[in-house]
Amino acid sequence: LEQDLRIAVKNKTLSLHYQAQTDNSGAVIGAEVLLRWNHPVRGLVSPLEFIPIAEETGLIEELGYWVIEKACHQILQWSAEPATSGLRLAVNVSAHQFRLDDFATAVERILARTGASPNRLMLELTESVVLADLDNAMQKMRALKQLGVAFSMDDFGTGYSSLAYLSRLPLDELKIDRSFVARLPGSKNDEVIARMVISMGRNLGLSVLAEGVETDGQMDALRRYGCHAYQGFLIARPSPIEEFLLLIQKK
Ligand code: C2E
Ligand code: MG
Ligand code: MG
Repeated sequence: LEQDLRIAVKNKTLSLHYQAQTDNSGAVIGAEVLLRWNHPVRGLVSPLEFIPIAEETGLIEELGYWVIEKACHQILQWSAEPATSGLRLAVNVSAHQFRLDDFATAVERILARTGASPNRLMLELTESVVLADLDNAMQKMRALKQLGVAFSMDDFGTGYSSLAYLSRLPLDELKIDRSFVARLPGSKNDEVIARMVISMGRNLGLSVLAEGVETDGQMDALRRYGCHAYQGFLIARPSPIEEFLLLIQKK
């Protein structure tokens, strides 16, 4: 698999899917960009399987920047159309990639080269990635933040959830992990957690997006708790760009 991945990265045969994100009015505010690998023999391989391989082998460096570059090209293309110029794209950043010394300058260079507006780019980090080296992470985030790039804390609630760092990081959004969304409404414990994350986000001035929303019941509950934004199969599955654009036209 490792050898095949190497070839796929080199030949740029991986692709990107886009999963819509909506606000409380149901309007699409943007999308999360998700990598897809259609293996010639195995078929679709999950990123949960190949991202760790890419991390171990260092391939993630080239692959990760390729994703950011593709997203930036998309942002630039969208900027010309009123229907799409306000959309943002969220890109996942892996631990290995974020740890690179020149990560911030590399992203800055991609933004400059592509001409994409930094305000339309959101980078998703996880708690473990940030907490591994908090001071270093903060420096990189601040540098990118100054350019206008936004930050989202992915899978929030599943990591160390050290609350002390939250107020210190230049974050824009918390993504409630889908494990807390799955049993809403009904699970008292998950309701408490979802409510807590939402009110904490609100009080820290952060937007809160719920991941993995699959049912109207989950959406209604989250809305009642004061959630700002949503992503999940209920709204749309991750899809090629053409399908994502059809969804915007429909909304
Ligand atoms: P993630 O960033 O938390 O992405 C959300 C995952 O949840 C995606 O899985 C998405 O397809 C899935 N999902 C979305 N809505 C629903 C729902 O309603 N129900 C359920 N059950 N699942 C839903 P996917 O695409 O398989 O990606 C898995 C993980 O792989 C991502 O988790 C992310 O950590 C990583 N990944 C994907 N693309 C990239 C990338 O370009 N770079 C890096 N570094 N990691 C990536
Ligand atoms: Mg993500
Ligand atoms: Mg997530």
